[in-house]
Amino acid sequence: MNFDLTQEHNMIRKTIREFSDEVVAPGAIERDKTKAFPKEIFKQLADMGMMGLPFSEEYGGSGADTVSFAIVTEELSRACASTGITYSAHISLGGAPLNLFGTEEQKQKYLVPVCTGESFGAFGLTEPNAGSDAGGTQTTAKVDGNDFVINGNKAFITNASYAKHLALTAITDVKDGKKEISAIIVPTDSEGFSIIDNYEKMGLNASNTTELVLENVRVPQENLLGEKGNGFKQFLVTLDGGRIGIGAMAVGIAQAAFDRALRYSKERKQFGKTLSEFQVTQFKLADMAMKIELARTMVHKAAWLKDQGRAFGKEASMCKLYASEIAMEVADQAIQIHGGYGYMKEYEVERYMRDAKLLEIGEGTSEVQRMVIARHIGC
Ligand SMILES: Cc1cc2nc3c(=O)[nH]c(=O)nc-3n(C[C@H](O)[C@H](O)[C@H](O)COP(=O)(O)OP(=O)(O)OC[C@H]3O[C@@H](n4cnc5c(N)ncnc54)[C@H](O)[C@@H]3O)c2cc1C
Repeated sequence: MNFDLTQEHNMIRKTIREFSDEVVAPGAIERDKTKAFPKEIFKQLADMGMMGLPFSEEYGGSGADTVSFAIVTEELSRACASTGITYSAHISLGGAPLNLFGTEEQKQKYLVPVCTGESFGAFGLTEPNAGSDAGGTQTTAKVDGNDFVINGNKAFITNASYAKHLALTAITDVKDGKKEISAIIVPTDSEGFSIIDNYEKMGLNASNTTELVLENVRVPQENLLGEKGNGFKQFLVTLDGGRIGIGAMAVGIAQAAFDRALRYSKERKQFGKTLSEFQVTQFKLADMAMKIELARTMVHKAAWLKDQGRAFGKEASMCKLYASEIAMEVADQAIQIHGGYGYMKEYEVERYMRDAKLLEIGEGTSEVQRMVIARHIGC
């Protein structure tokens, strides 16, 4: 057994850590306030070959593995979780289904621009009345000649304003009262397709979260992604991979909160001593460090299993659930260690908590993760 990262992983970690510290972190407070999407950062990430990191070089990717993707997502999220979620969704929700289920022609047409960063990747599953119960999809895609005609609404879709196309799920047929759900690639400039970007969010303010409205949107039937009727299965597979990204984001946020808390505890004096001299503070920091270590190990294990071509669904759910819950705990403790200053925006720890909360909700809530794990362990 070997817990060491490879030389390549360490190189990627070093490169992305420097980039995150020098380029991503400095504007994070401002972007949280202004909600400005970090487009310039992503141009640079594209130049660094990060936008198609785990995809084949044949499609403009960098041919790296899932562990590398987890490292990049963690480091970006440590500096700015809005940048982290944009990246994670771009790769694991936008690029991955095209890579897994696309035909050669679809990959050339749609995956290549995702890998080069010309288009952001996005994935339209959730609807106003179909969240955890994603099979409750109401969006329809009716065959008309050579086309699908799509009608419906999607809610909370990451990156869609900056995507040239996205895969979304829709009902393509109803057989014996059962919905047949398929995935279809839809260009975002299609007639009848509106993308609304006006949610007022709790956190991740610089990320793009949108509502999609599709009114008689016509796309050719060749835009079907994977087999007809396999849309439900496909998105379950996609979400398994996405959960590694959410786990990595959570580790990054937790690490940032811990780093701030440790630094502050050594600076702040009360009763003639630094906070770090009080055993109660040391115990808090020890618990935080232990939980981050466990979460990172679990994220890397899930990513490693995926890279070995082995089953990883249970571990992906476990790492997502554990890492997102400890990210909230660690951010909460980091605020506590900062006292009143922690409640103030300039100390950043309050942003970590607001950003971390989404991780217990997106790509399957904590309750859904427990349901998935329970299924895997034979309940
Ligand atoms: C910022 C943000 C970005 C997002 N990005 C995307 C994206 O890019 N693409 C996309 O498709 N979706 C995206 N989502 C949607 C996200 O995946 C859903 O919000 C999530 O799956 C939960 O669905 P819901 O919000 O409808 O909550 P609901 O399903 O209504 O759940 C509400 C509560 O009920 C609980 N619950 C539901 N069913 C059960 C049950 N059977 N047993 C016990 N408890 C249950 C839930 O755990 C939760 O606590 C995003 C959401 C946000 C907020």
